[in-house]
Amino acid sequence: MDIAHNPIAPEDAPATPAEPPVILRADYKPFPWLLPETKLVFNLGLEKTRVLASFKVERNPAAEASNELRLNGDSLTPARVTVDDVTVEDYVMDGPDLILTVPGDSHTIMIETEIDPSANTTLMGLYASNGMLCTQCEAEGFRRITFFPDRPDVLSTYWVHMSGPKELFPVLLCNGNKVAEGESENGQHFAEWHDPWPKPSYLFALVAGDLVANSAPFTTMSGREVECNIWVRAEDLSRTDHALASLHHSMKWDEETFGREYDLDLYNIVAVSDFNMGAMENKGLNVFNTKYVLADPDTATDADYDGVEGVIAHEYFHNWSGNRITCRDWFQLSLKEGFTVLRDQLFSQDMRGEAVKRIEDVRILRAAQFPEDAGPLAHPIRPDSYREISNFYTATVYNKGAEVIRMMRSMAGLERFRAGTDLYFNRHDGEAATCEDFIKSIEDGAGLDLEQFRLWYRQAGTPRVKVRQETARDGLTLTLSQTVPPTPGQPDKQAMPIPLRVAVHSRATGQIGEEQLIVLTESEQSFTLPMAGPDPVVSINRGYTAPVVIEHDVPLEDLGFLAAHDDDPFARYEAMQQLSVGHLVAAASGELDETQRAAGKTAIGDALAAILTDEALDDNMRGELMLLPSETYLFEQMASGARLADPGAIHAEREALKTALGTMLKRELEGLYARTASVGFDDPTGRGARKVKTQVLALLAASDPEQAAGMAAQQFDAADNMTDRQGALMVLCGIESPQRADALKAFFDRYTGNDLVIDKWFTLQALAPHADVIDHVKALAEHDDFTIKNPNRVRSLYMAFADNPAGFHDPSGDGYRLIADLILALDPINPQTAARFVSPLGKWRRIEPKRAAMMKAELERIAAASGLSRDTSEQVTRSLEG
Ligand SMILES: [Zn+2]
Repeated sequence: MDIAHNPIAPEDAPATPAEPPVILRADYKPFPWLLPETKLVFNLGLEKTRVLASFKVERNPAAEASNELRLNGDSLTPARVTVDDVTVEDYVMDGPDLILTVPGDSHTIMIETEIDPSANTTLMGLYASNGMLCTQCEAEGFRRITFFPDRPDVLSTYWVHMSGPKELFPVLLCNGNKVAEGESENGQHFAEWHDPWPKPSYLFALVAGDLVANSAPFTTMSGREVECNIWVRAEDLSRTDHALASLHHSMKWDEETFGREYDLDLYNIVAVSDFNMGAMENKGLNVFNTKYVLADPDTATDADYDGVEGVIAHEYFHNWSGNRITCRDWFQLSLKEGFTVLRDQLFSQDMRGEAVKRIEDVRILRAAQFPEDAGPLAHPIRPDSYREISNFYTATVYNKGAEVIRMMRSMAGLERFRAGTDLYFNRHDGEAATCEDFIKSIEDGAGLDLEQFRLWYRQAGTPRVKVRQETARDGLTLTLSQTVPPTPGQPDKQAMPIPLRVAVHSRATGQIGEEQLIVLTESEQSFTLPMAGPDPVVSINRGYTAPVVIEHDVPLEDLGFLAAHDDDPFARYEAMQQLSVGHLVAAASGELDETQRAAGKTAIGDALAAILTDEALDDNMRGELMLLPSETYLFEQMASGARLADPGAIHAEREALKTALGTMLKRELEGLYARTASVGFDDPTGRGARKVKTQVLALLAASDPEQAAGMAAQQFDAADNMTDRQGALMVLCGIESPQRADALKAFFDRYTGNDLVIDKWFTLQALAPHADVIDHVKALAEHDDFTIKNPNRVRSLYMAFADNPAGFHDPSGDGYRLIADLILALDPINPQTAARFVSPLGKWRRIEPKRAAMMKAELERIAAASGLSRDTSEQVTRSLEG
């Protein structure tokens, strides 16, 4: 999967036990029964769907013998249960699960259930979305369709017969290959599907609806032809070419880079507008959030295009890393997700350039994962326990999981890493595997010793590496010491292996040093490196080889040198970030007097001037170097050690820096704007130009709002693409001006009826650094186009607001109340999405006391509500416990 808001409880809201049970990784036991084949018969209807499931069970020789057959259920009542064709009345219900006692070695079980997809607002299991039926089963949705051993280590081949009214559901799709179809009486028709590859129930999918496809075949490396289809509503068909091309590119890339070939005759992708996640990798039938399928220049930004390409690739790559080899249990989630995120990152690097993609990935890691590692919800990439698995679809499991495997790749080198992944795919094909199986395969295949490295799977927390440097006779000595901060349940940590690419440049001669890889394995360790000349400048963690925080006191002039001259693009970006982070955190903490404050701004201004005018730099990279560190990242830096974060001070200092830079560099910024504004959409450098233009406007908006509003309004009116239009509107949303209201109205009118673009309209207003943003968000929640039932719309307004520090951390506490009210309203409707809003409030311990007290009070108010879902209650409890 890929990760990506009526207080009336629906009747099927699951009853919540007071204290949901804790599930432990150490308790894993294989299922006592094997299910070689499963047959499912669906009689489909929006309000009433009947499901007949039949499967043969055989004793699992690898498991402890038991006569109990536990079939998981969730909000289901069995209509009929038979064992070996005899109706069973004395089955036992254990909570939501159905338990049968079966004494023999093999039995045939049949269960009939009836469900109402239209009443399913959780969007888990089978549900209705815009007149169509679709499913989401990962992690535990299949048990909302029928009673079944709904666990990832029970693999079965599936035969599915689906029937329904042809007029309502002209297209009937399922996993695998279609083997039969036809018409029956009363306007009904049917299709039969067979998936030859054994799979766990979480990979089951079914779609029925009025859809059309954009199709084009792909020929695999062994010459087989695969029919590829992107299924959407007819009005969206013209926006599917990019998705289809991205699928073909992914198929080709995985053959070339990992030697993986696709294994069915058919690959279907369906776009749905009501979806909790980004997309889902069901075997042969991916279900996608429309956000990651639909794109054309008029409605999608360059970043949206990248999102489509990346998510299509991610789900496709799961066909091997996830489907052919799946997870033994949900504690192993990073086995498929960490590895697949790395694969999609490497793919995107190859498609559109390594430097910028690497910077983007690190920015996401720092914005989303570092706060998890530092907060009450911190967990290792392979957790030891959970109450609700949906809560572990986290940036830690996904993004840090990817970084951990990337470190193995850096240490092994590309060729040996490939030997390791080849061995993994060959050794475990067709199995439900563990993270340990993966590590062992890399160890054996790549010839690496990963004994100590396994700590990365066990220990939570972001390691901090302190750097001291000393010039010695034979070179430069770097003394590195590491600490891994305590996290909930893990007070003491061991030293981890940390691979770091380093080089030592010379500021005096401008000589760039040669790069090497060092691996820090002790708590403290020294390395002697060759120097390129006098005035050595250390460039460390180049390419961001390790997901750690580097603590290194680097003089301003050295940071300036690195920002202007380092040959590693990530290191240049990092030096620019460090310049600003150092200044802003010190300023927000009240550690600078006026002179120091002015000197800091000047140093940043000089470095930025060099970047704005560096003709050798491409605009795409220039746009990255111009970006100031986000307030979230500054929050993390300020709240390290004993210090608490003050979001108000951070926001004020960052705005003040923008104002100073806009004033200081007015001429350079205007020059750059004039040059980039003249670049056409289809020009090869157009993409970089579009990125830079918006960065320029954002800086000018802080120093001269009136001028910026004029320029942004002009850009908005002249725009022939969404990137320029959205960039201009984003800037206008932060400025109280007549142009703001005009542009918002024009944008809304132009795109009325296009949900994905109207999501942007909500987001831009909720994210704006506008003084009245809380009132804006409250008004938008009352807007006719707002609905709490659609997760994209909820996220577009409220997740954007929770990401807007100036609004969320408003000193009145109204921002916290707004999010808490949302959680309480959304929880009965869609608990999975509601629970995702808890973590912003969970930061209370690391924040100044006044705001902390208000945040904690909101968490306590949520905790006190009756009938909270397992999802939300787990997150709130953990956030309060810390
Ligand atoms: Zn995934």
